[in-house]
Amino acid sequence: MKDYSSKAVHVGIPRGHAEPLGIPIYPAAAYQFDDLDVAADEFQQNTGYSYIRMQNMTNQALEERLCSLEGADTTVVMASGQAASLAAFLSTCKAGDHIVASSAVFGGTAGLLNNVLPNLGITASIVDNNPEAARAAMRDNTRHLWVETISNPNGDVADLQGWADVAHEHGALFCVDNTLAGAGYLCRPFDHGADMIMHSLTKWAGGHGSALAGCVMVKDGANIDNIPVLQDLKDQFGPRALSRKVRSIGVHQLGMTLSPFNAFMIAQGLETLELRMLKECDNAMKIAQFLQDHPRVKSVNYSGLESSPFHAVAQKYLRNGFGAVMSFEVEDPERFFKSLKMIRMVANLGDTRTLCIHPWTTTHGRLSEEGKKAAGVSPYLIRMTVGVESLQDILSDLEGAL
Ligand SMILES: *Cc1c(COP(=O)(O)O)cnc(C)c1O
Repeated sequence: MKDYSSKAVHVGIPRGHAEPLGIPIYPAAAYQFDDLDVAADEFQQNTGYSYIRMQNMTNQALEERLCSLEGADTTVVMASGQAASLAAFLSTCKAGDHIVASSAVFGGTAGLLNNVLPNLGITASIVDNNPEAARAAMRDNTRHLWVETISNPNGDVADLQGWADVAHEHGALFCVDNTLAGAGYLCRPFDHGADMIMHSLTKWAGGHGSALAGCVMVKDGANIDNIPVLQDLKDQFGPRALSRKVRSIGVHQLGMTLSPFNAFMIAQGLETLELRMLKECDNAMKIAQFLQDHPRVKSVNYSGLESSPFHAVAQKYLRNGFGAVMSFEVEDPERFFKSLKMIRMVANLGDTRTLCIHPWTTTHGRLSEEGKKAAGVSPYLIRMTVGVESLQDILSDLEGAL
């Protein structure tokens, strides 16, 4: 199997007589051992089945499917995207280390970088979303660079290869939050120099907006000579040291393990990701054009528009479409939200339904005024994640609200 659509519905399901055609949910908290040697070996290696925090057959099927879709060697699923981000940072950094991240990142990621990691002695420089700004912020102790493929609310697209080059020139690792590119459907960052990928699977991978989940993916063989926190595993595991670290930190030690029920929900969602994303991207392109031409709309941010400053870089890195998220400025946000009839005011992304939110008072509400402006958020800005409803119904709702 070569293509996304085939892998998304087949990988993780065994072939064979009377095998179920679906991914079973295994809620068992622990697994049986045959004899003392087997049990001792399992505790020594910690690779297979002993206890649900370490591994679970439902989670493993989802991990296999995600690896195949994104070209990863290892995927570790976790309880949320937020858990996955923390695991990615702690797998590459320890006290005294430094991170360089783009300012165009999810609020929860900024919270980790600004409020949680500094208490553990890990500091971060938040820079403009371009490789030159990253290069200027590099220090001898920089171990990790972080960007989002497509950021929200404004859909900035990162120059992935440029960021990767800066990381590798300095012996650091490059991690991409690929959430808005839908589980590798719109972009595969490992093809553009990434060493690690993080996803909130809560968004497009699930798609139904009914399960919280996240993952870290690893491509084996990154140069880890300059990453102190990995040196103890390097002798034992060689090129697989980074993926071992992610699993040991994220699930064995911090216990941020995904529930097998949620793993099942996400695996089901992946089966229709391509169909949803195709419709959402198609809807989004036409809605962006409609908004751009609308006299009551002051500005539209969508990398699919030729007027977008990110159009060229989006054409380079995104395949199959420009994504389902856009933002736009209206004259009167309060009246806009009050007038919507079908579209709902909700903070989620990647849902089957079209959802809008007012970043100034919600997702970015806790930032200072300068912080909001740096993130490209004005009091007039609306963020929209486009769903799979009929284009006509979405357009008439927007027309009415404008
Ligand atoms: C939602 C989101 C996260 C956090 O994921 P959760 O599953 O909500 O914990 C991280 N990054 C991006 C880009 C997101 O949209």
